[in-house]
Amino acid sequence: MTMLKPYYIGAHVSASGGVENAPLNAEKIGANAFAFFTKNQRRWDAKPLTEKSIGLFKERCTSRGFCRDQILPHDSYLINLGHPETDALEKSRLAFIDEIRRCQQLGLKYLNFHPGSHLRVLSESECLQRIAESINLAHTETDDVIAVIETTAGQGSNLGYNFSQIAQIIDGVTDKQRVGVCIDTCHIFAAGYPLITPEDCETTFNEFSEKVGFSYLCAMHLNDSKAALGARVDRHHSLGHGEMGLEVFKFIMQDDRFRGVPLVLETIDETVWPEEIQLLRGFSQPVSSS
Ligand SMILES: [Zn+2]
Ligand SMILES: [Zn+2]
Repeated sequence: MTMLKPYYIGAHVSASGGVENAPLNAEKIGANAFAFFTKNQRRWDAKPLTEKSIGLFKERCTSRGFCRDQILPHDSYLINLGHPETDALEKSRLAFIDEIRRCQQLGLKYLNFHPGSHLRVLSESECLQRIAESINLAHTETDDVIAVIETTAGQGSNLGYNFSQIAQIIDGVTDKQRVGVCIDTCHIFAAGYPLITPEDCETTFNEFSEKVGFSYLCAMHLNDSKAALGARVDRHHSLGHGEMGLEVFKFIMQDDRFRGVPLVLETIDETVWPEEIQLLRGFSQPVSSS
């Protein structure tokens, strides 16, 4: 008998009023995973987390059955770890370190972030190298937390839109135990990876396996896409309502490589998150008890 990990399914929930509200919001939608921001994602500055907030967050996670494997904090949208200019790069690096420290304070395992943008100043490989250096720097300044690189749609000058670029960043990271990947289905589809039929999914995830490796997979963002395959724009849609359809989500829920990591909805209509979570659970096969 092989012990299979469960599927952890949830959504990026609100933490308004304090991080301690995130586990409550996740529980309300029937999730056994969640993502959230530990600070306002559109601001640089943030008040430090209070002891009270930290205590309540941990207590509520424990009492609601969320362990650190099931929680995926996301960093601020302002951070660009591959910024071409020294001052702006420094600002991003400091903010990223602060985000990691907040995760550490909350007892969390991961920090999900977008790799960075070259802003048409640096070459792609220079920028990827810079991103890896930023991660190395953050590692030396902090402990434990795994830096989880998100695949992007390749909008504008955002890097991380193909698996080779993700592999290149990982290659430049010294501590491989503290780096991982979050595949966003909408983003990779918009970046040109087919995901409509089971055969598409086979091809795309095999390529991920070859170029990056499933040992680095720490999380998934499950989103349908308003934009067509290869459109290079980031437009999420509710599951089954976009260009991708539902096959990819069935595929993921029946493939054991996606067990044991947070599978997070960032779909556009949060009122249907409970149904989307149930839909995904329905696609998954029960763990064999034999
Ligand atoms: Zn993201
Ligand atoms: Zn995402």
